[in-house]
Amino acid sequence: MISDVFCKIIKGDLPAEVIYKDDDFLVIKDINPQAPVHLLIIPKKHFDSLEDFMDPVRSRARDRVASPKDRGAATSNGMEERNLALLGKALVVSHKVSHQLGIAEKGYRLIINEGEYGGKLVPHLHIHLLGGKRLGPKLVK
Ligand code: 5GP
Repeated sequence: MISDVFCKIIKGDLPAEVIYKDDDFLVIKDINPQAPVHLLIIPKKHFDSLEDFMDPVRSRARDRVASPKDRGAATSNGMEERNLALLGKALVVSHKVSHQLGIAEKGYRLIINEGEYGGKLVPHLHIHLLGGKRLGPKLVK
């Protein structure tokens, strides 16, 4: 049973400031904002990480537990086509909320922290959207 903090928010078991939601994504304000606008774009379907998302073996295992009607077509590496489509949709959602919040014209930054060295804290794939001010030129210290 997967029960990371974002799964709990998606289920409604934990509160969050929701900026946008649809069938595939929830966008919430980060609880510890690093910029005037700091959102988290979270797929409702659970993936531990980008590594997990891209892994065809795990993707096939997820397919086996899905009911036949929920199973999608597989790509050449064994991933579900619609999982890949989620990546594209994440950018569409980012674009949508940046306009919704009026920060698109001046610009913003999208970040995925991956693994230990990437500084990932919550084991549920998500994208940070940061903006609302001129961000520093450095991505790393
Ligand atoms: P990561 O390092 O995993 O990419 O970042 C996880 C982010 O989730 C952090 O910026 C952290 O502040 C945020 N976060 C952790 N727990 C919660 C929570 O319960 N609610 C919200 N809204 N954000 C959270």
